[in-house]
Amino acid sequence: MTPKISRFLSENRPATPCLVVDVDHVAERYAALKDALPLAQIYYAVKANPAAPILHRLVDLGSCFDAASIEEIRMCLSAGATPQQISFGNTVKKVSAIREAFEAGVNLFVFDSEEELDKIARNAPGARVYCRLVVENDGADWPLSRKFGTTVKHAYDLMLRAGALGLDPYGLSFHVGSQQTGIEAYEAAIAKVAMLFTDLSAAGLDLRMVNLGGGFPIRYRDDVPEIERFGLAVGQAMTQHFGNNLPQMLVEPGRFLVGSAGVVSTEVVLVSRRGGAPEAPRWVYLDIGRFGGLAETEGEAIRYPVRTAHDGTESGPTVLAGPSCDGVDILYEKRKVDLPLALRDGDRVELLSTGAYVSTYCSTGFNGFAPLQEHYI
Ligand SMILES: *Cc1c(COP(=O)(O)O)cnc(C)c1O
Repeated sequence: MTPKISRFLSENRPATPCLVVDVDHVAERYAALKDALPLAQIYYAVKANPAAPILHRLVDLGSCFDAASIEEIRMCLSAGATPQQISFGNTVKKVSAIREAFEAGVNLFVFDSEEELDKIARNAPGARVYCRLVVENDGADWPLSRKFGTTVKHAYDLMLRAGALGLDPYGLSFHVGSQQTGIEAYEAAIAKVAMLFTDLSAAGLDLRMVNLGGGFPIRYRDDVPEIERFGLAVGQAMTQHFGNNLPQMLVEPGRFLVGSAGVVSTEVVLVSRRGGAPEAPRWVYLDIGRFGGLAETEGEAIRYPVRTAHDGTESGPTVLAGPSCDGVDILYEKRKVDLPLALRDGDRVELLSTGAYVSTYCSTGFNGFAPLQEHYI
């Protein structure tokens, strides 16, 4: 928790549950990533937290943006980003979204299928396109791979097709999975992308860009390698495979830039010994749960550090759950959380490193997509 957040919480005691984000911390993380990867252009993955103050600050810092939807593109533009600073990085896009983005001046689109490529060719003629490869997501606490990306062989054909359709086959991308703690995942993915890059260049395409995606991890309850080590490994792998002929490098960090900048402040609703026996497991119910934004606790994948005013006193293993009447609304049960025995209902509990993928999951517009409209007739 940054001193600024700590001061804000004690001076304002805002109603819970709430998310407090230190935007200066986002700027520090941006600078740290820039230092670690000086040759890469940063495209902030807007879906991690699309709040206007974050977008404004990143625009001021010269960041570019990876957008998942036309709504996110509009948010970037209204925060002052130019269309040239925006990549439409979702492999699944509505025709109307492609058209609006292109008309607004966005000129960088991803695809991983023939069908999507054809949509782009028809609705954003001549645009720069890049193909997403599927790569191993081993080592990622929040993997993404099955839904996106294609094989090297298929990508080869698609990139040639992109040229034939009058598009500009600009580059290749991958994503090693979110909260990726294994540096080797990037090295392996770069080796894979480099081979295809070389083959396509030999086939006459003028490829100029490699998009390394996001995935850079932050510290939750366990240490993760420093960003400098990722930077070094990525730099070395790129030089090893591309020599002096380095293509333009893009990275799309989401979690790394905003995750540690946020704290969710909550209130304990109930502490109980289920079943009544003294040795029965202790449950603590908070006023936020799986449906209030903590979706990444699914499978207990992301383990937020928990702070209370009683820290340092006698503690014990605790099941942590949300307030709703849904049976899956449990945050941590298989691996219990060690919490002070003095904890009582009405106490405040802080969940740290909740700046990424929390506010968006509880909004009714995840990734910018408009909420379900309802019609009662
Ligand atoms: C979600 C996503 C990101 C951001 O991933 P992080 O793990 O938060 O860094 C980057 N690029 C694409 C295409 C994404 O879908």
